Amino acid sequence: MADGRDQLVLLNPGPVNLSRRVRAALAGPDICHREREYTDLQESVRSGILGVYGLSADEWVPALLAGSGTAADEAMIGSLIPEGATLAVVENGVYGERLRSIAEAYGISVRRITAEWGAVVTGEAVAAALDDPRGITHLAIVHHETTTGRLNDLASVADVARERGIQLLVDAVSSFGAEALELDGWSIDACAVSANKCLHGAPGVSLVLLRREALARTAMGRGRSVYLSLHRYVEAQDVGSVPFTPPLPPMFALDVALGELVAAGGWKARHDTYVRRAKRIRTALDDLGLTRLLSDGDLSSSLTAYRLPEGMTYAQLHDALRQRGFVVYSGQGSLEPSIFRVANMGELTSADIDGFVATMEEIL
Ligand SMILES: *Cc1c(COP(=O)(O)O)cnc(C)c1O
Repeated sequence: MADGRDQLVLLNPGPVNLSRRVRAALAGPDICHREREYTDLQESVRSGILGVYGLSADEWVPALLAGSGTAADEAMIGSLIPEGATLAVVENGVYGERLRSIAEAYGISVRRITAEWGAVVTGEAVAAALDDPRGITHLAIVHHETTTGRLNDLASVADVARERGIQLLVDAVSSFGAEALELDGWSIDACAVSANKCLHGAPGVSLVLLRREALARTAMGRGRSVYLSLHRYVEAQDVGSVPFTPPLPPMFALDVALGELVAAGGWKARHDTYVRRAKRIRTALDDLGLTRLLSDGDLSSSLTAYRLPEGMTYAQLHDALRQRGFVVYSGQGSLEPSIFRVANMGELTSADIDGFVATMEEIL
């Protein structure tokens, strides 16, 4: 373990290190999900989620699911895209490609908007694709493309979608809670979120935060899936119930984690904390001569991808760090042989970040 730590320091983009209170909450009481205790817990989590970006409960509703972030992506796409619709998908990393695979698995007609992994996708490029004569009705995009650390320009993309009356679905799995996300202002219909990234909860709960109006518009999306039908979750959760057995331990943990986010000053304060950590890591690793995949203006606050140091494999770097208590993350797909990623989400101290930097100096 790293100095002063009883856990590995996780510098992977989720699951993240938990606070002691959040971890303790995982061992909450034995309860039945058809009793008042569960309804209270669920209501608390629902209002906590709306509170992160100050959304109105009249217009927005979170559908809480058992599953990882991909379950939320799948529920969002499967439930909100009606028969006969055409979905455009922005693909500049693994997660954009995953959104497209989900749509294809559901037999949804897809128009791909592709770019190299890590490359920018501008509002103009999206606009050109959306003007496709086949008639696009929906657009899906990943906000923070965790593959490379790129924060996609959601504001510009949202503008072009809104101008054309196209419904916008967002994978905000690795940005919700730590990046600017103007759900109302950007006319977003729904976004997929996970408990165990920037919200600092434990894995096992994910959710789709959606406009009630979007749900009403797609009443027939209900038929595509039984377990991942957002309609079922919202109907039940609106009356304090739940359609299937919920993941109780991570629900307890998420409730505490949302309380800690508020106590720490909300998403903006978390963003600032992440920016400070990222700056410390980026400055130090730049000084060590490492090359970043993307430059400052393109990056999220929570992850940086680097070229592997000359003459070192990912396994060598990973194992040397792991031995000293730090877990970093490999590249994915075509980037796997050439990069490594350092995330700075989760319950980390400045001593953890300093320790990581010192360890990198030692190893290199
Ligand atoms: C982590 C992540 C997901 C979901 O991955 P799971 O393994 O299902 O949790 C989806 N999209 C993005 C952008 C992510 O970073």
